[in-house]
Amino acid sequence: MTAASDAAATGADATSEPGRDVPDAEARHAEGGGSDPQLGTAAAGIPDVVTDASGERLARAASIGAGAPVLAFDVGGTDIKSALFDAEGNAVGLRRTPTPDAGDDMPARLVERIGELGDALRAQHPDIEPQAVGFVVPGIVDADAGIAVFSSNLGLRNAPLRMLAEQRFGLPVAFDHDVGTASWAEHMLGAARDYPNSVAIIIGTGIAGTILVDGVPYTGGGYAGEIGHSPIGDWPCPCGARGCLEVVASAGAISRRYEEETGAEVDGAKEVIARADAGDAVADRIWNEALDALTMSIAQLTAVVAPEAVVIGGGLSRAGGALFDELRARLAARLSFHRIPVLIPAELSGNAGILGSALRARRVLA
Ligand SMILES: [Zn+2]
Repeated sequence: MTAASDAAATGADATSEPGRDVPDAEARHAEGGGSDPQLGTAAAGIPDVVTDASGERLARAASIGAGAPVLAFDVGGTDIKSALFDAEGNAVGLRRTPTPDAGDDMPARLVERIGELGDALRAQHPDIEPQAVGFVVPGIVDADAGIAVFSSNLGLRNAPLRMLAEQRFGLPVAFDHDVGTASWAEHMLGAARDYPNSVAIIIGTGIAGTILVDGVPYTGGGYAGEIGHSPIGDWPCPCGARGCLEVVASAGAISRRYEEETGAEVDGAKEVIARADAGDAVADRIWNEALDALTMSIAQLTAVVAPEAVVIGGGLSRAGGALFDELRARLAARLSFHRIPVLIPAELSGNAGILGSALRARRVLA
């Protein structure tokens, strides 16, 4: 799949946080549309952002394969994607609904919201009996302990979300990080599936990824894959370290840096890239600095990990040739004897989080 068609198949905005869904133009038509007729009264009390606009698209995009039916949730800072996966592995009833506002008692309210969404899905499809639940959130996640260690978007700190969700659903719950899960889904179902040694990088508001070694995710106890916070310079990063990649190379950083330097407002990184193409010197410098920084990080990965493929997803991957052709050329210029990985656009993109969430749920049953 090309980057262009990948873009068409997803709703992610160029500046969206990785793993977070932002309704696309098509989906916006459904916004504010009131109740979902398919969900009927079971959905009462859950305000709809989007009904089922992307459900068919998801079902066409990928199946997780035959196996136990599961419920899956992909929680972002603004909305929650929820779906039931049937025994064939197809998503049914996919919808996006608002994330509850952060504040007091957020863990309980968040779990109650996904509980209501799960109740609605089960009422809508009584013939599908889910055996497990997948639940992924942004921020710092201790997947082994089932704890959301910190999430500024969701206002969570040391929240035992897996335990709360298991109590709510009465089912085993797989709990994990949204971006890690999304890029893992690219390994399992998407663009990286033919490459047992590969790295998937999601470039959105931040940059994160996963590393697959001989077909097995290398997690480093949850610490691996923080490509966005690998130091390649000396500028300050909000994380407290210096020189982190995502400060110059994330989609969010590209637009933010341009706006800070020029005072102009831009519609995401894609507008900065367009301005660079049109001869804007500031845009050109910022875009080139982003490309050089990404090249440096991928070159380091190539030398140390030697992936056969690097899959790039998230909003910035929609830049297509402007990104991929440039990175290929710069990587080839920087390296010598190394095995240069193929650079390929992610295929699942906006759906990767919920597909990965469903796959994780299947795994807790294995
Ligand atoms: Zn950092």
